[in-house]
Amino acid sequence: MKRILILPSNRFLKGCTRCSVNLILCMVLLLSLAAGGCMSVKNPVSAPGVSEPAQTDIQASMKPTSSAASATALASSSSEVSPGTEASPDGVQSTQSPLPAIRTDNAAFSPNEMGKIPVVMFHRFVEAFEPKTEKSYTSTFQQFETLLETLHEKGFRLISMQDFLSGRISVPAGFKPMVFTFDDGTASQYSLEDAGGTLQIKTASAVGILRRFNEKHPDFGMKGIFFLNMDMRDNTFPGKGTLKERISLLLGLGFEVGNHTWGHVDFSAKGTRADMEAALGLNQKAMTAISPDTVFQALALPYGGRPKDKALRPYLASGIWEGTAYRNDGVFAVGAGPSVTVFDKRFDPLYIARVRATGKEPVEADLDWWLAEAGNRTFYVSDGNPDTLVIPEGQDTYLVPERAKGLKIIRYAPAP
Ligand SMILES: [Zn+2]
Repeated sequence: MKRILILPSNRFLKGCTRCSVNLILCMVLLLSLAAGGCMSVKNPVSAPGVSEPAQTDIQASMKPTSSAASATALASSSSEVSPGTEASPDGVQSTQSPLPAIRTDNAAFSPNEMGKIPVVMFHRFVEAFEPKTEKSYTSTFQQFETLLETLHEKGFRLISMQDFLSGRISVPAGFKPMVFTFDDGTASQYSLEDAGGTLQIKTASAVGILRRFNEKHPDFGMKGIFFLNMDMRDNTFPGKGTLKERISLLLGLGFEVGNHTWGHVDFSAKGTRADMEAALGLNQKAMTAISPDTVFQALALPYGGRPKDKALRPYLASGIWEGTAYRNDGVFAVGAGPSVTVFDKRFDPLYIARVRATGKEPVEADLDWWLAEAGNRTFYVSDGNPDTLVIPEGQDTYLVPERAKGLKIIRYAPAP
């Protein structure tokens, strides 16, 4: 298929900036006070003075999303990738689907399924930085490409949000799961372009880049969730095609969509029950109007803001607005570290940590920082079997066994 390069649109600058500026303030607060409306961070290696929020309770059932058959047909011509075989970090050959490589020689490769999973947060991408480019939430396309290479080399593999929230994690033995999230529906994340009368994924977009990367490395994964503000209407993923076509194609490729509120609402400032139900229910209603079977499964809090009144926070997870129900099995903050799993006592489905993708200027606790600083025991390392929970002895302090229903828990003595 012929490809036409279209430079990313700047139409979303305003929307992104409104998010980003507040995120920056939030990060500053976070790193200095470890308190307030943003996720605080705990560096198990070398960040004294910051602490992790208490994480309690869990709601981990998931609803399926669906995708339009027409979108699948549209996508299939350009998104098919052939299965590949690549060496794992431990030198073991692992194949792509249908089944991941499973290992049981645990002491030899040290799986840890109580480790943390990075949920990476992206906002916007540009061809090149300019003096006026926002510093923290903008990456170049080249940075993104390089990041994919780095993550692949370091043994990370993408999983869906649904798998993250259900705890049914399927990556090959020795590999580390990771979730990609994209906020605000910008054109540089994903949009369509016209190639000789055919709609195709814009080459200069994160999805376009991820697709090409998967042609080379099909084991990496084409996964990710896009948190949308449906009040932006046709300015969501602005470009060719209708919004319905863009969303259908995105879902057809296997990506997910999530709630980012109708109106990009900061619930720390506007956080009554009615505020939440309107912002979340109306956003769901608008998605249903475009894609009747698509149910948002997760919410990314604009500005990381949540209601000051703790008693009202459950309305982030579920509610109803003028007959439209919404349900978010995970509510995501804006920073600043990898998340514990759903099996962990500290997991709070109403406030799940994300890691900010490294922007124009690297800062402490961004993704590059974590990749450099995190110790070997930080991350979740799979045994390849989604039906087991393999834990090194001594690493099960925070395990809540009843959350691992249906999974076989296996403890092993790590190699000395
Ligand atoms: Zn946003």
